[in-house]
Formats: sequence, C-alpha cells, structure tokens
Amino acid sequence: MNIAHWLERTARVAGARPALMHGDDLLADYALFHARAAALATALIDRGLAKGDRVALCSANTPDYLVAMFGVWIAGAAIVPINAKLHPKEVAFILQDSGARHVFASKAHLPDLADDTALPVTALDGPDFTTMTSGPPAPIVARKLDDLAWLFYTSGTTGRPKGVQITHGMLAAASLCYPVDVDPVSQDDAALYAAPMSHGAGLYAAIHVRIGARHIVPRSGGFDPDEILALSAAHGPTSMFMAPTMLRRLTDAAKVRGARGQGIKTIVYGGGPMYRADIEEAVNWFGPRFVQIYGQGECPMAITALSRADIADRSHARWQQRLASVGRAQSAVTLAIVDETGQPLPPGQTGEIMVRGTPVMPGYWNNPDASAATLHDGWLKTGDLGHVDDDGYLTLVDRSKDVIISGGTNIYPREIEEVLLTHPSIHAVAVVGRPSPEWGEEVVAFIVPAPGAAPDPAILDAHLLTELARFKRPKAYIQIADLPRNNYGKVLKTTLRDRLRADLR
Ligand code: AMP
Repeated sequence: MNIAHWLERTARVAGARPALMHGDDLLADYALFHARAAALATALIDRGLAKGDRVALCSANTPDYLVAMFGVWIAGAAIVPINAKLHPKEVAFILQDSGARHVFASKAHLPDLADDTALPVTALDGPDFTTMTSGPPAPIVARKLDDLAWLFYTSGTTGRPKGVQITHGMLAAASLCYPVDVDPVSQDDAALYAAPMSHGAGLYAAIHVRIGARHIVPRSGGFDPDEILALSAAHGPTSMFMAPTMLRRLTDAAKVRGARGQGIKTIVYGGGPMYRADIEEAVNWFGPRFVQIYGQGECPMAITALSRADIADRSHARWQQRLASVGRAQSAVTLAIVDETGQPLPPGQTGEIMVRGTPVMPGYWNNPDASAATLHDGWLKTGDLGHVDDDGYLTLVDRSKDVIISGGTNIYPREIEEVLLTHPSIHAVAVVGRPSPEWGEEVVAFIVPAPGAAPDPAILDAHLLTELARFKRPKAYIQIADLPRNNYGKVLKTTLRDRLRADLR
C-alpha cells in the first residue's frame, strides 16, 4: 500500500473539489493537485530516481510542499522533510545521513544548499518545478506497508538528530487514528498549516487528502497569529496543529484583536508540555475547540489523545486532572508503564511510558545501536515518565532525562514549572538540575519575568509552598530574557544545564 493512493482516489472521486490554497487564493482542485504530483513523479523517475530512494524537502510551508510530498511517494521514493530554519550544517548532516538523491527547497535556501551539497536542488517556487509538474503522469509505484515513506529527523534537543523511519503502514495507521481518536474530518474542512509541514502538521496532510478537505497554507509560510485568525474567519471550518507556545501566542493576539476564533473548528495541540494555566485561558477565550495529542517521531502523533469534551467539560469531577493529562491511548497502540527493570507498574505509579502498535517505528535509519536502545520486544521506550489512572488517562510527568535527583529523591521539573507559571510576575519558566556536592543535584529555575514585573524569590518561594513540598523549592531563580528553544519551540534544557555547569567552573 502506497499512501499516494489516497490522493489518486480523491482525485478520481472528487476531482473538482478545491484542494490547495495559498492564503486566500485557490491554486488547484484535487484533479490538478494529483496531475502535478504524478507529473513530478515522471520527472523524478526520468532523472534516475528509483524505488526506495530518498528526496529531501527543505522549505518553509508552501502548497507545493504537498505536491512534492505526493510526487515523491508516487515515484515510490521516501521524503526527508528538513526544518527550513535549521543551520546549514545541520541540513548538510541530514542530507548526508539520509543519502538523499534530490532536494526540493524554497529559493531562500538555495544559496546555502548550493554551498553544502553536490545534489541536484530544485526550487519549489521556481520555473524548473513548474516544468517538472507539467508533464505526463506516472502511475503509482507499488510499495509495501513496511516500506519507507518518510524519514523524520528528531528535533535533536540532545545530540545529533536521528532519522526515524516512518513507513507507509505507520503513516496510514496514524492517519486513520485522527478521525477516530482526535477529530472527525469532513470534505468541508480545511487543514490550515500553522506549524512546520516538516513535522506533525505535515503528517496530518494525508488524512485530509483522503477525505478531500482543503489545504490552506498561509502566505507568510510561518506562524503569524493574526494571519491564522483572518484565514480561519474567511475560509473556516479550519483545523490545525500547534505547539503549546504557538497557542499561547494565538490567545494573546486574539485577545488584543477581540477575536474569538471564528471559523476555527479544531486546534490540535501537543509536541511539548501544555501548562494548565495556558489551556484554561485558551478554552475560556475560544471555547471548546481544542484536542490534545501526545506523540513522538518514533510513534508520530499517535500515542494518546485528550478529547474536546474532556478539555471543555468543567462539570466533570476529574476535569482538572484530565486537563493536566494527555488523555487516553489512541486506537492503534497499547500503553504500559514500567519501572527501571522493565516490570509493569499498576495505575497511579510513575514509570517510563512504553508504546506498542502499528504506528511505532521499525527503527532508526542506519543506526542499529540507537534502535536497539529504544525498541524492546516490540515496545517503544519513549523516554517519557508518567502514570495512568483507573480510567486510562495518562499524565506525563517529565522526560526521564530532565528529572532532577536531589538527595536521592526524584523531583519532576514540570510540577514546579506549573505552579510558578500561575504567579503573575512570571511569563515563562524552565526548571533544571544543577550539580551540587551536597545533594547530587539541586533545583534551579530560569524565569522570564512578565512585562514590567520584577519577580521576588521570597514571594515565589511562598507561592510554591502553597502547593508543593519544601524540598522542591528552587535553590536559585535566574532571570533570563528568553528561554533557549529549538525550531519547534521546545525549550533546550540541555543548553540551560550547560550554562549552569559552565558557571560552576
Ligand atoms: P518529537 O519527537 O520531536 O515530536 O518530540 C516528542 C516528545 O515531545 C515526547 O517524547 C514528549 O516528551 C514531548 N511531547 C509530545 N507531545 C506532548 C504533550 N502533549 N505533552 C507533553 N509533552 C509532549
């Protein structure tokens, strides 16, 4: 099964339906979308691309990203999406590691790429791409469920990124979970690409193609809250994926405009911790438009989901706990929580989250050591710690590598961050461990003050004591203008820990 069959099918049964939009402009119906992708496959095959080869996509969001994606699949090859904001050296590493045969990039990235690679590079927004997508169509090259569709490079918050192998079968399974576990999709919907297509937002393209919904790519190619609000109001119902930091910015912008999210059907958030204060504020302002997912490249977007009703239903006795959770297992996976020796733990006890099922990767690309360290008897070790309640709701406690061990006790930074964030003097916070001769590690909080505020450590300590044990209070609060983040908005705790270690030297 080649995932490209979904595009061919929609083009056949609903060819006249609107498919690709750039901002307010309709560029293609499904018949044209498919014709261009199939022509691209012909052009690639004519240039020597073979079944199983890899083709890199290094571009800001643009409708032609989707044409390139499906064109590569029709040709029987796999895509290697690369975040366009990565440093040229990081891009060069991924090109070399993946063994890509061709690169599609936006013009803005051509000069850097030309310096760093001898590969053929085609600008998605240039005349060559237009020529390549205008010729005769190629038939779909047959693929099996366990053949590679997408090499997904991890965001690399620690060390070199690793290439997660996403197969056609994984992509189909994760996509089919979307209407079942996340949100039903209708032909009248529009997938709005608010987040990079190289990550989760791009993975959601397939199910929207299968159903025949529209795809709207903002003209900015990036995340502009005002643009998202305007496009949704004009072309809704829209659905989109957002990282928690983006949702925070959207809520702030909407409040300034007095916009209540008209046209937005669903915002799926995930990819990092959503603080309770932020989601409560978003629901208060926008209403019941949210679903949370928990996933990782190794099981893309498909581990758990927290439903719209769970997020919005304040009358439920466990609403607060559920809001703080990431919901229940999606339909194609089974979860387990295990201790350090791999033994299953009962509900309520914290351990490592393990996942098994169709959307779980077969392994990393050319990296048997990392694969062996991550996959055990068909189970994926997520590296995340959490616990499950009697109703199956999973609460993430932290990444195992972020846990602070102080005086032999585990301290989970996230619970300290949650409480600090409810204090009005704090805009953003990241809690990490600092080496300590006395305790092993001690708690340090990096804080970004709210505009005009001057956070006072004594007041913050007192605030923490209303909710948490004494020993969890930070030994130091360090003010910082902004938290270091990677290109997906995740806080780089490794950078903060390195800074603390350097200060100790
Ligand atoms: P990536 O593979 O780059 O998508 O990163 C996956 C990691 O992001 C997971 O292992 C979690 O640590 C974190 N993550 C993903 N979704 C959530 C979520 N809904 N809440 C908290 N953390 C999340």
